[in-house]
Amino acid sequence: MLEVDGITTRYGAITALHGASLEVRAGELVALVGPNGAGKTTLLNTVAGLLSPATGSVRFEGVDITGSEPADLVRAGLALVPEHRRIFKDLTVEENLKLGAATVPKAERKQRLDEAAEVFTVLRAKWNTSAGFLSGGEAQQLAVARALMSNPRLLLLDEPTLGLAPTMVDVVFHLLEDLRSQGRTMLVVEQNATRALQLADRGYLLRTGNIVASGAGADLAADAELFDSFIGGHAAATTDTPPGGAT
Ligand code: ATP
Repeated sequence: MLEVDGITTRYGAITALHGASLEVRAGELVALVGPNGAGKTTLLNTVAGLLSPATGSVRFEGVDITGSEPADLVRAGLALVPEHRRIFKDLTVEENLKLGAATVPKAERKQRLDEAAEVFTVLRAKWNTSAGFLSGGEAQQLAVARALMSNPRLLLLDEPTLGLAPTMVDVVFHLLEDLRSQGRTMLVVEQNATRALQLADRGYLLRTGNIVASGAGADLAADAELFDSFIGGHAAATTDTPPGGAT
């Protein structure tokens, strides 16, 4: 469904991605993990059209979308849930959702809003509340619901659990599981690397702009040596039992 082939993305003199490649197949949940500054956000933003790669290509459902405009990519079936959620705090929940439906034909918008209210019961209860009054977990659900308004075939999620309380982290991971069981294809950047890889069908490790490992999510999650060398072990230590368990 998505083929990222050898992309190099730069910010002026800084090269953030050095020929990175990855693939997401229809129905898969793919986790992209790596230390801070590895280039994970850069990769998602390049796929979503917010950045243009200097070299390499991005193909979505067989079509070359390299350098396409973000709005065109939403119309093509690709949606991004950005890092830090980026919801509009002065607008109500409903108004935020309507913004997510900007590319949806008018006749379908009401139906999409009704679906969001049905699935996201937390949001339904706060439909006319300014988004600035939502908790972090509620705001993240709004960010995901907003991206789903365009009914994307591929959902890109950038650090959906960043800054959330542990119970809300659980809520977001359950949401990812639900979306996957509904057949939604997802590429997820996550700081809770072990947990994300355990949930994912496949995963990629990114380090200083290079993909340094890839494979089945569970295999990568179980590879403690890989984690120690590429992530420094801290990502695994935040949420999970250390390798070998308690002694
Ligand atoms: P984090 O987990 O901290 O969000 P990341 O893996 O998502 O990290 P990126 O945010 O993609 O990494 O950053 C990759 C590299 O590009 C880093 O060296 C970062 O400092 C640099 N970078 C990111 N955004 C910019 C920018 N707007 N201008 C200049 N350099 C940037």
